[in-house]
Amino acid sequence: MSLFTPQTPARRCPRCSAQWLWGYRYRQQELDVCRACGGLWFDRGEVNGLLRQLHPEQAPECFTETFGASLGPADIHCPDCAIPLERHHLLLNYHSEIDICGRCEGSWIDKDELPQLEQSPALQQHLDDINQGISWKTFLFQIFSQLPVEYNIKPKRTPWVNYVLLLANLIIFMAYYFYPPNYDYVLSNFAMTPIALSAGEQWWTVITAVFLHGSVIHLLGNLYFLYIIGDNLEDVLGHWRYLLLYLGCGVFASLSSMVVRLGSDVPSLGASGAIAGLFGMYLLWFRHASLTFMFIIYQKKLSALWFFILWLAINIFGLLFQNEAVDYAAHLGGFFIGIVIGLALKEKVLAANPILGLLSRAEVKLKR
Ligand SMILES: [Zn+2]
Ligand SMILES: [Zn+2]
Repeated sequence: MSLFTPQTPARRCPRCSAQWLWGYRYRQQELDVCRACGGLWFDRGEVNGLLRQLHPEQAPECFTETFGASLGPADIHCPDCAIPLERHHLLLNYHSEIDICGRCEGSWIDKDELPQLEQSPALQQHLDDINQGISWKTFLFQIFSQLPVEYNIKPKRTPWVNYVLLLANLIIFMAYYFYPPNYDYVLSNFAMTPIALSAGEQWWTVITAVFLHGSVIHLLGNLYFLYIIGDNLEDVLGHWRYLLLYLGCGVFASLSSMVVRLGSDVPSLGASGAIAGLFGMYLLWFRHASLTFMFIIYQKKLSALWFFILWLAINIFGLLFQNEAVDYAAHLGGFFIGIVIGLALKEKVLAANPILGLLSRAEVKLKR
């Protein structure tokens, strides 16, 4: 914020009352700012000017259009009209409070509310997407596919790496699965077998196994999860970092499977371990996202956290009590490293994508 030509301050801060409001120039708007509390006074129309400048395509005609109902009078007064300001929620589903004067339509914004106000058109758009309800379409989709429907923000950039990963998995599968000699050759040379890998043979299988699948259902399930989860992660990580972390989680998952099943000659294959790594990051960075869960015929939107807790429970149960048909050790290893990466990068990712921080706050009202 740069100091605007100092002028004689004419108004008192509604919060600090003993302090004056000073004229500042901020993003081409002239605002009145309290130097003590950092709060800002916007005259009528100035908030709209600011939002139009920040979001030329998304800004509403008038920012009061998207308000929730009045919450009653505030304990602070309009610096011009001296009447109590009215409290409002910033958005219907974002319960950060701002104060408006009913007479002059000026608005008081506390210092920590400014980022939320500035992002409000984007927040509104994202909340509309996330808060969509379940419908007969989502019900039919899940009852036939047994796969969840995702509710999350739309990625800003095209997930090219994710498309390439999806296509690579599909092409590789088509190349060997339907022709038995190829199938046997690929499985014995490129799937990860603990007994071979731990003897230092076939080291490449830690990564090649991640691109193989053992059945059509296995392939389609993995591709679907990669499709819904991967685009958001690639969006916040950037293309190359996303690719690197995907492959890294895959390698870690293969090694986990080797360690847990040491001495086994049952080959392990599938993208599930790498995708489980993506689950870990997704759950830490997209707290607002929902995935539907179906209990027999009852469909419900669950938070990413609850969805993956259930997924985790199923996998731990599987690891303890099932045979080796599904590689639960790879799933759990991948998920573990995903959580570690998710925690390590959380601060960086949220700083680079402030909207994720705003969406993980308690002010967000999610419909689940
Ligand atoms: Zn103040
Ligand atoms: Zn007023």
